[in-house]
Amino acid sequence: MENPPVDGVIDGVAVGVAVKIPLITEIQRFSLQDGPGFRTTVFLKGCPLKCPWCHNPETQKPAQEYYYNKARCVSCGRCVAVCPTGASTLIQGSGKGLVLNLDRSKCTNCMRCVAVCLTEARESVGQAMSLEEILREVLSDEPFYRNSGGGVTISGGDPLLYPAFTLELAKRIKQRNVHVAIETSCFPKSWKVIQPLLEFVDLFIVDLKSMDPRKHAEVIGCPLKQVLDNIDRLIEARANVRIHIPVIPGFNDSQQDFADFIACLSKYSSQLEGVDILNYHVYGEGKYTSLGRENEYQYKGVKENPPEKVLPLANGLKRVGIRSVTIGGLVGITTGENESGRDAGVRCMANVNGG
Ligand code: SF4
Ligand code: SF4
Repeated sequence: MENPPVDGVIDGVAVGVAVKIPLITEIQRFSLQDGPGFRTTVFLKGCPLKCPWCHNPETQKPAQEYYYNKARCVSCGRCVAVCPTGASTLIQGSGKGLVLNLDRSKCTNCMRCVAVCLTEARESVGQAMSLEEILREVLSDEPFYRNSGGGVTISGGDPLLYPAFTLELAKRIKQRNVHVAIETSCFPKSWKVIQPLLEFVDLFIVDLKSMDPRKHAEVIGCPLKQVLDNIDRLIEARANVRIHIPVIPGFNDSQQDFADFIACLSKYSSQLEGVDILNYHVYGEGKYTSLGRENEYQYKGVKENPPEKVLPLANGLKRVGIRSVTIGGLVGITTGENESGRDAGVRCMANVNGG
């Protein structure tokens, strides 16, 4: 199920273009990692890229899905009774009783089983919400934003997959004088997609995943040039920009990769608000299994890098003049050191994030 497009109007407000309201996978309150202060982060469902290490697979596909958590299933058969395709059946288990067998190849994602499951073994992923409902939820913590310098972060997936909706949401939040950030891979080919957001977005948090054009196109599924061009335009427009670098074992964690990131970002050193280095972590693996998409996860068994692995990258970025560099997100608990042993001002919180 997807939210239907709405022509020219959202919740009574004319927006002039057809607006598709994405499904929402989560609205996370009191986040400290998606921008300054206390934040509420809205995760939109849908991303055009295909990063094989993605730790939020539930945000990749625009359409509704469901988790099946086997540990919670009591094999009651309620889902079997409503399943129109035979995807859910009861079969003889290895013990005495019957157990549920879920054959996702027969499943049409009709969600009838989710509605009848009493144990939450089935859980829908992607909720249809109106703009008003989203606004009500994200603005309910306004006092916390004011006291902490926080605000709302629009994330995903990628919000730029839904530019008209993201623009309208940012505009409506900004009307309340609340800080707005967006997290994006800056993939759009056309700057016209991003340009209107400049007026309403206080902080662009941009993922930079590789400096290798071939890997960027083949593995991630988007030309590197588009991302770099958009970062250039954001900097030229004097937007506040933080770069997120997910450091992925075997993909972009060599000394050469680090040197390439440092060389690229050094030209923005005085303009960038900062860089956050996000060490790959394995927390997303279980989600692939619950979504029935375990075959899509290509990092099974890949070990996380120790936090110190990325210190040369962090220290190199500090050396070229980036004023704020963190390892693990915007909240830090220890400092790194440069080769001379002096505090390099690198804040470190290991393996908190890594998308
Ligand atoms: S309804 Fe829920 S608990 Fe019952 S068999 Fe289906 S998934 Fe398991
Ligand atoms: S979502 Fe799939 S398993 Fe569930 S009732 Fe529909 S077809 Fe059957």
